[in-house]
Amino acid sequence: MHEHDSSHEVLTQAVLRYAVDRIRMDPPPLDGPRTAAELQAMAGRTVTPRGLGGLEALRVFSDVLSQATISADHPRFLSFVPAAPTEASILFDLVVGASSIYGGSWLEGGGAVHAENEALRYIADLAGMPPEAGGVFVSGGTAGNLSALIAARHRWRERAQGRHDRTRGLVISSKGAHSSIAAAARAMDADEITALADDQGRLRIDALRALIADLAPEDRDRVFAVVATSGTTNAGVIDPLEGAAQAAHELGVWFHVDGAYGAAGLAAPSVRDRYAGIDHADSFIVDPHKWLFAPYDCCALVYRDPLQARRAHTQHAEYLDVLHTDDEHEWNPSDFAHHLSRRARGLPFWFSLATYGTDAYREAVEATLTLTRAAARLVDDAAHLELIMEPELTVVLFRRTGWSPQQYQAWSDRLLAEGVAFVVPTSWKGETVLRICIVNPRTTIDDIHLLVDSLA
Ligand SMILES: *Cc1c(COP(=O)(O)O)cnc(C)c1O
Repeated sequence: MHEHDSSHEVLTQAVLRYAVDRIRMDPPPLDGPRTAAELQAMAGRTVTPRGLGGLEALRVFSDVLSQATISADHPRFLSFVPAAPTEASILFDLVVGASSIYGGSWLEGGGAVHAENEALRYIADLAGMPPEAGGVFVSGGTAGNLSALIAARHRWRERAQGRHDRTRGLVISSKGAHSSIAAAARAMDADEITALADDQGRLRIDALRALIADLAPEDRDRVFAVVATSGTTNAGVIDPLEGAAQAAHELGVWFHVDGAYGAAGLAAPSVRDRYAGIDHADSFIVDPHKWLFAPYDCCALVYRDPLQARRAHTQHAEYLDVLHTDDEHEWNPSDFAHHLSRRARGLPFWFSLATYGTDAYREAVEATLTLTRAAARLVDDAAHLELIMEPELTVVLFRRTGWSPQQYQAWSDRLLAEGVAFVVPTSWKGETVLRICIVNPRTTIDDIHLLVDSLA
């Protein structure tokens, strides 16, 4: 597999050049999707018995494949939740890739795990977690929610001392909860019931309490977690966490907060108080790959009592038991989620925090909030647009008066095809509307002007 030295050097330079050029593009081309048949025709066969050679494979990637992937860090990529990794985090992602770090155990990856834990501490402190809190970086919010709920169910069964070993568990969430909570319940063969939300999508505490009160005693016994959302994905609203924590506490069950998108707002003084009650969580997640400027894939999962989570997740095998010493300082990230081998995926985030400092994070998150408020004003002032609600975080939901779903889709397709912007329609109470989500500090008010004008 070793090419002779000069071609090896040429490939090294070419790949590094490509990466550096991509990092420096401001903005990168938006690009757009192609069908598999088109890609097949354009790229030809790429996996062959004798290999294409690195330069040719890189050419196929750069000329064909990369152009069929949308740049999530483009300042007018405003669909879903965009990405906006810092330069330091991207550069360090290259280092992590080059370093063959096994991030699952202290024995093998201690130095990396130490740094990841520093970054987790920053997040735990934002939420007001106690000093013993800790956790692990997993691939995304979906994996984080599942792992938190597995820990929650484990505690419920432990406390029941055998009575619930075969009982199907029950999770209470709300109508605004992310689809990954339902997916976790399905994967765990548990049930999920959802409490009603208010007309902006926030969990209603009165509805939560009524739902609990109406449960049959045997169902109330099955509840192992209450899940609240701090930043719903579609509307960016925060559930009343204090009330949800209180209800979970009275029921004696685990309280999990899904902050995959929105918990990053804890860094911003202007919205911080809306998260009151997150400090009561038994676990919470936030995705640095969403609104904390880290590359994919990176979700911080934090437990109030990591030892509890460790009992739920540790894998035992003859060849693994050497990793489990009694030294409490030996932190094995594998033990805190549903995984074993892992990339030290918190390191790019850590390097960026270490490089720029936490003040820069506060300012960057705050800047996106400020821009979102200005964007809402532009929308509100445009005669052809209607703001659906004042943004609580960085999602703006609005409608173009008089448009059919087909008109929204045609507008969205045209903008992407022209390389101008990526904004897909969403639905709100059954109606097709528009949604933009701003997490990129490079997005400016001019970008929003351009969108507003294109909708006239
Ligand atoms: C994005 C999101 C998730 C899922 O996170 P992934 O990283 O995409 O798996 C879960 N919950 C909320 C609230 C989200 O916004």
